[in-house]
Amino acid sequence: MRTALVNQSSLRVDVVAGLWPLPSEHSVIESIHRDGRCVSIEWDDGITIETWLRWRGSWELYRSNQMWRLPMSFARVVIEVPGWTAVCFGSVAVDSYRMPDRHRHPQSGGVGPDLRREGVDLGAVATRLFHPTRAAMSIFDALGDPHVLIGSGNVDRSEVLWALELSPFTPVGELEYDDVWTIVQAMGRAVRDGHRSLSVYGRVGQPCVRCGSSITGARQGEDRRMAYWCTACQAGDGQRLVPPPLLETSMPADVLYLNEARAARQRVRIFDDLRDFG
Ligand SMILES: [Zn+2]
Repeated sequence: MRTALVNQSSLRVDVVAGLWPLPSEHSVIESIHRDGRCVSIEWDDGITIETWLRWRGSWELYRSNQMWRLPMSFARVVIEVPGWTAVCFGSVAVDSYRMPDRHRHPQSGGVGPDLRREGVDLGAVATRLFHPTRAAMSIFDALGDPHVLIGSGNVDRSEVLWALELSPFTPVGELEYDDVWTIVQAMGRAVRDGHRSLSVYGRVGQPCVRCGSSITGARQGEDRRMAYWCTACQAGDGQRLVPPPLLETSMPADVLYLNEARAARQRVRIFDDLRDFG
């Protein structure tokens, strides 16, 4: 099973209903471990699916065109890679979890998670965005990279970066993981909730509703999409997402974003502390 599956991109992962999280589309199987009756499969986006084989539980490997020994309804987990299908039958307890390791190397090929999907795994998006191969990319370009995420428009990128007062030209490598996490959460919210009004998108030459300076726009990246930003409050190059005093901002959406930025930073710090103490 290892020979057939490891280092292969998974074409399909079917599991018992309700299991979450699941590996993102086309992520690569990194390793398969067996510990007694427990078989765990690990993907390169940090997801592990664990199967505890109980009475008559077994993993079986089939060629793609081969008949299975038992009907589909007996399968608890099905993993398909090019040429092969691995099926877990029988009485099996299935669990899945994410290894929260920011230094993992997500596969750079394959499309990222779809932000329009219910329950989309934003952690996987952040991991892809924070990947060292994107260090030199501008945050604007990286957010438009389909290997990082799909399902979000040009409007979302421009509006979210404005809300966070971040220059669209900030290289990803100059951001900390918690900044990236904040951006990804804001993107998720923008896609889910839409925009009540536009602050920068399509507003070239008009005054910024926050600081009054003028909005500008330019074509960016390989796909030559328009980026819009405020020449004053998004002028910094490579700044951190340090929240300015909340009362200076007048937009409710802004306050929301900034509060979340702070909360996200605290969450990451707590997590780091826990890890440091084992
Ligand atoms: Zn401004």
